[in-house]
Parts: sequence; structure tokens; C-alpha cells
Amino acid sequence: MQTIIRPTELRARVTAWRREGVSTALVPTMGNLHAGHAKLVKRARVSADRVVVSIFVNPTQFGVNEDFAQYPRTPVEDAQLLSELGVDVLFMPEVADMYSAQQATSVRVVKLSEHLCGEFRPGHFEGVATIVTKLFNVVQPDLALFGEKDFQQLAIIRRLVADLFIPVQILGIPTEREEDGLAMSSRNRYLSVEQRQLAPALHETLRHVSEAIKGGSRDFKAHESSALQALKRSGFVPDYVSIRDADNLEPPTDQSRELVVLAAARLGKTRLIDNLRVPIA
Ligand code: AMP
Repeated sequence: MQTIIRPTELRARVTAWRREGVSTALVPTMGNLHAGHAKLVKRARVSADRVVVSIFVNPTQFGVNEDFAQYPRTPVEDAQLLSELGVDVLFMPEVADMYSAQQATSVRVVKLSEHLCGEFRPGHFEGVATIVTKLFNVVQPDLALFGEKDFQQLAIIRRLVADLFIPVQILGIPTEREEDGLAMSSRNRYLSVEQRQLAPALHETLRHVSEAIKGGSRDFKAHESSALQALKRSGFVPDYVSIRDADNLEPPTDQSRELVVLAAARLGKTRLIDNLRVPIA
């Protein structure tokens, strides 16, 4: 595995691959890799001839009071894992490589970025959309893989790729979970032993809502508010629980074919997110 820091060098590498006629997959990450990331990389490995994984803790997607400085950085362990997974190139740019001092352009996906997590993390998805667009332009991959764990992020990326005619196929990968149901996340390591024991209640609560919908109940507002209460009883401070149309993240209609139950909730200072898709007849 080759580690590349400079975008120009990465571009040259990928251009050479393209001349050879091989396909490239990109897996963007912020590092501190776990089995969820590994699942994306393994899928990339079987779906394209060459795999690029980026590790970049993107400052523009963190709010002023968020955890940019504390975000866990484990480059040595990450490189070891990616090498074992057969990754061709690890792209680890510095902040100054991705954002020049003159940077004046930003990518904003309106509406989709403003509700759900966007309401509680203003500017977050603009930072995500901007860095993902930059990564797409540096790597020019045929395929890019993202986790369904960040369901709203995935929807935003699909939208921006369609809106801007970016020639990349987007693949969403189901959420990898711990045995007790907790969605794997780099932020889980912030949890104390006690909080870690409470954390699976987030997934459990979403499962209850999902089962009720599968059972035929359509009183979405009642399910959202009882889920909020359940999360509070379990020790969370919830931001939201919301049942949406999985295709466009709008409130469900009679035409909706698949719903998604999304939630964000805090345990102490740690903000966890999760979601469950619910196919309906
Ligand atoms: P992050 O490093 O948290 O920015 O995540 C990088 C990519 O991995 C994103 O596309 C995430 O959605 C995805 N990801 C994170 N956690 C999981 C998980 N538990 N299962 C599947 N994909 C995940």
C-alpha cells in the first residue's frame, strides 16, 4: 500500500490507472477505523480494480463547540488495517493540502442539509458536501462507498452527485453493529463504561418503532414522541427521533414505499446517531 499526502500526486497515480483501463473505488473516512469502515473497504475491494481510502478529519464539518481537536486519530493502526485489507493507496492530506488560504467555494445541498441533523449541526453538511466534492475531483473514482449509518449524509451525497453531474457511482453499505446492536462509530470510544452499557438503547428504541410500523401502525407522531420518552428514560438527551420517507427524507406520504426511522441523541457529551430502514407494503 502506498501512502500519498499531496492531492497532485494522487491525481497523477489515478490518471495512470485510468490510462491502463482499470477502475477505481474511493472510501472517504475520518480514520480511527473500525469494522464498519472495513466493511466498506472490503466491498470496494471486490467492486473495483483499485481502492483508495482517504483519512481526513475535515475541519469545516465540525461546529465551533464540537470535537475536531479531540477527534480520535490513530494513523499507525489505520494504515496497518488498510494494508491488510489490500488497499492500494491511503490518501492522508494535511488540512492545507485540501483548503488553500484563498478557498472561496463551498457546496451546499439545500433543504436536505437543513433538517434532522442539519438543524442541530448548522454548517455540518455544507462542510461534508464540500470536502466530498473535493475528494471526488482529486480521485475521480468510478465508485465511492458510504455507510448507511450516516443516512442523511448518504442522501445528500447522492443528491449532489446527481445535481452536479459528477460521474461517480455511489454505493450505500448497511450499518455494522456491535453484538448488542450499537452502531459502530469512532465516537463510541468517548463513552464511559456506564454510558457504553446504556448506548444500545438507541438501536433498541428504533427497533421498537420499526416493529410498530411493520405491524401496520401509521401514527408516526405518537411513535416519535414515545421513542423520545424512551430515550430520555434510558439516560439520553435526544435531539430528535423522526420517521421519514427513505427516498427523499421528507415526511411519509401514501406513496412512500420505504420509511426510515432516524435518531440523534446525546449521552453526556457524546452525540450518537442511528437509523433503521422500514420497507412497507
Ligand atoms: P467516518 O470515518 O465516521 O466519517 O465514516 C467514514 C465512512 O464509514 C462513512 O461513509 C460512514 O457512513 C461509514 N461508517 C461509519 N460507521 C459505520 C458503520 N458502523 N457501518 C457502516 N459504515 C459506517
